[in-house]
Amino acid sequence: MKLAICASEAFPFCKTGGLADVVGALSSNLSKSNEVENVVLFLPKYRDIGKTAFSPKKITGNFIIPVSDRRETVNLYLVEWGRVKVYLVDNPRYFDRPGLYRTSSGEFSDNDERFIFFQRAVLEALKFVDFKPDIIFCHDWQTGLIPAYLKTLYSIDAFFARTKTVFTIHNIAYQGMFGKETFVKAGFSWFDFTPDKLEYYGGINFMKAGINYADIITTVSPSYAKEICENAQIARGLEGVLNFRKNSLFGILNGIDTEVWDPATDTFIYKGYDLKTFWRGKPYCKKMFQKEMGLEQNKNKILAGCVSRLDWQKGVDMIADVANRFLDKIQFAVLGSGDKEIADKLRAIASAHPSGFVFIEEFNEELAHKIYASSDIFLMPSRFEPCGLSQMIASRYGSIAVVSRIGGLKDTIFYNPDNLIESNGFSIDLPTQSNLSSMLGHIISVYNSKEIWSNIVKNAMKTDFSWNKSVSEYTALFKKISGIDNNLT
Ligand code: ADP
Repeated sequence: MKLAICASEAFPFCKTGGLADVVGALSSNLSKSNEVENVVLFLPKYRDIGKTAFSPKKITGNFIIPVSDRRETVNLYLVEWGRVKVYLVDNPRYFDRPGLYRTSSGEFSDNDERFIFFQRAVLEALKFVDFKPDIIFCHDWQTGLIPAYLKTLYSIDAFFARTKTVFTIHNIAYQGMFGKETFVKAGFSWFDFTPDKLEYYGGINFMKAGINYADIITTVSPSYAKEICENAQIARGLEGVLNFRKNSLFGILNGIDTEVWDPATDTFIYKGYDLKTFWRGKPYCKKMFQKEMGLEQNKNKILAGCVSRLDWQKGVDMIADVANRFLDKIQFAVLGSGDKEIADKLRAIASAHPSGFVFIEEFNEELAHKIYASSDIFLMPSRFEPCGLSQMIASRYGSIAVVSRIGGLKDTIFYNPDNLIESNGFSIDLPTQSNLSSMLGHIISVYNSKEIWSNIVKNAMKTDFSWNKSVSEYTALFKKISGIDNNLT
């Protein structure tokens, strides 16, 4: 089976959040599967992408694609990354600028054109490098038009005659909605500008296009798959389209890269530890972290970590709202950037209580690792959560996840108040301040029962968050739609 994966970000090349982790790990894991012969990954060639450890090689020649009423040149660069060939799609007009999607003052105003360019370039690039995929595996709105292009402009193109598309929804809150002029720029026929096809409230919605036209739609957890069909607040206007395609929608839980996220070998953290040595390793990490961050040096205080985008979705504002009540028992360390109002709130409480609350407003990979390793609990009271990676990473580092029981959090963190010995974390039914407060109060009492706590830590660290199961589920779906049986083609 030949797979072409397309996305707007993938770790370790470019990352703003979980999408990158998932696309990077999925690409790498799928390339190792016996069911898959070749994997190519397409990414935009952002300004900083070639400045990492990779040196992309320019592919000789170039080609032209139409965007709006112009003709744009596409240059391709190649990075051989393990068994994955990574093609970087280049056009300086669109990608040679700081940041992936936005500046601190807002989204780039030409994001529609940037990703129309990228998607049309990917389809032509497949021909240019002569890679005829069985499956084009698309991720989130930035690639939602690809399934639509294949079923419209490319419907009679023999090169793609056997190609099927899979569209994965990582977060339905970001849909890529634009006006009618974007529909024109994308080059579709007016024949397809109807509500059952590409039209969306007088404009175009890239995610709707992916959902409508892909052969299969997946999303990143079984619970979220259900929620986006049933809950209009979560589906944000796409519940109708999703219900229509319900039989082609599958929830497959994300995994985490267990090599990158391994407390035994992690070189960022103060001291490595595993299931047998966490009781020694974690307190050491906590002590060093408290020292580095200027927190009170006190082993008896619970250290609550949070590594997150600052966005209403994540409920980090609730942490700022309840923290005051617990500062005598709990220390807080929040690493995150994003929404200004949430950041202001966090900054205010951190400056009022520097020995009990630390807020680091940046994107910092090393510090993220240190927080996962040093904290006793990890707060993630999300208001909605397609899958979530941070709660899985935290669990692997023995930092007990405190989550709301929704989406992927529900599918990964198991809390039974009547049987704590079998729990791997704590969950609240609804993400509210009062629920979070009562849960923190409960956690303070459980933390004092060292044996029970130690059991929860072991359960968390032992939970299987690897990609193995998900990769088998994806390959089974790919085989089913492409009509490929056990033999490789
Ligand atoms: P998202 O909705 O942002 O994708 P996830 O939980 O799925 O949330 O994934 C978040 C990923 O981004 C995790 O790997 C987390 O460690 C990382 N991350 C988020 N914010 C930061 C930050 N400020 N610094 C470093 N890593 C971060």
